[in-house]
Amino acid sequence: MEARGFRNWLDGFAARAADAGLSRKRVEACLDALRPLPDVIDRDRTQAEFARAIWDYLDVAVSKARIRTGRAMQSRHRPLLDDISARYGVPPEIVVAIWGLESAYGDNLGNLPVLPALATLAFEGRRGAFFEAELIAALRIIEAGEVSAAGMFGSWAGAMGHTQFMPSTYLAHAVDFDGDGRRDIWSEDPTDALASTASYLAGCGWKTGQTWGMEVRFPDNFDHALAGRQVCRPWRSWRALGVEARGGGELQDDAPASILLPAGHLGPAILVLENFDVLRRYNAADSYVLAVGLLSNHLAGKPGLERGWPRHLKPLDRAAMAELQMRLTAAGYDTFGADGLAGPNTSAAIRAFQESRGLIADGYASAELLAALSS
Ligand code: CA
Repeated sequence: MEARGFRNWLDGFAARAADAGLSRKRVEACLDALRPLPDVIDRDRTQAEFARAIWDYLDVAVSKARIRTGRAMQSRHRPLLDDISARYGVPPEIVVAIWGLESAYGDNLGNLPVLPALATLAFEGRRGAFFEAELIAALRIIEAGEVSAAGMFGSWAGAMGHTQFMPSTYLAHAVDFDGDGRRDIWSEDPTDALASTASYLAGCGWKTGQTWGMEVRFPDNFDHALAGRQVCRPWRSWRALGVEARGGGELQDDAPASILLPAGHLGPAILVLENFDVLRRYNAADSYVLAVGLLSNHLAGKPGLERGWPRHLKPLDRAAMAELQMRLTAAGYDTFGADGLAGPNTSAAIRAFQESRGLIADGYASAELLAALSS
C-alpha cells in the first residue's frame, strides 16, 4: 500500500470530518500517527469466497461447547439478564446467543485498534463510503469522551466489544446500564454491552413475547415454491395449508411468517417471524440468524432440530455459483447478474427452471442442479 496515497487520503478525510462537525484539531490529533493496516485489506478481500455448507457453519456456531458455556453464562448473569429483559423486552437467551456468536462470550473482543482499521478500509475504497461514515462515528465516540483512541479496540472491520457493535450502532443504541456515566462495551464486565445489545434489538423493532421462528413440518403435497422470504403470510394461512409448528403453541394466528429451506427440500423447514428480520439487522446472513435462533433455543432448554441436514450435498463455491447463474441465464432463467452470490433473483430463476423440469421447486442451488443444467 502506498504510504503517500494514504497520507493524502487522511488529509482529505480530516477536512471532511471537520465539515461533519468534528473538531479539526482533535481529529488531526487522533489521525496523525495512523498507519494503514495491510492485514485488514487481506481480510476484507478474502471474505466469502469459499464454499461452506450451512450445516458446517452451524456445527461450529452452535457447538456443544458453545451451548455449554452459554448455559453457564446465562446462570452466572441471570439477575442482570432478567433486568435487561424487563427493560427492553428481549429474552435473555437471545442476548446470550448473540454474545456467544459475536465474541465467544467475551473471550474474543478483537484486539485491533479501531481507528487505523477503519481508516484503512475507508481508504482502500471497496466499501469506502461505508467505512468512512463508521470512522467519523468512531471519532464522535472519542470526542464525547466515552473511550480513548487507545482504548477503542475491535475486529479487523471495526466491530467493537462483547457483541461487536459498529461505531454508528454504538452511537445510536449503546446504553450505560450500570450507571457509571460511560457506555463501556469493552470492559470485562459485560453489563453495558449486553444491555446495549437488547437496546439495539428493541430499537430495531423486536416483538416482545414473540419467538424468532421455529421448525415446521408440512404435508407431502406442499408447494415448495411458497418457501422463501418473498412469500410472507399470517400464520393462520400457513396452518390452513397443513403446516405444523414443532412444539407449537406460542404462535399468534395473525403473526406474519415465511418459511425458509436453508438446505433445500431435503433439509429442515424453518418458519421465520418478524424477530428473524430484526436479528438480520445485526447480521443479514440467514445462516447467522439461524445460528442465533438455534443457540437461543438450546439456552432456553428447547429441543434441537428434528430433521437432519442433508450432509451428503456439496455446497457450491463462488465460482460454481457464478457458473450456475450464467447457465440459468443462458437457458432463459435470468439471474440478473452472475456474481457467485445467491440472492432472491437466483432462487427465483432456479425455481422457474425446476418447475420447467418437473423438479421440486425449492430454489436451492446444488451441485446436482448445476450438473442438470450442464447436461
Ligand atoms: Ca457504564
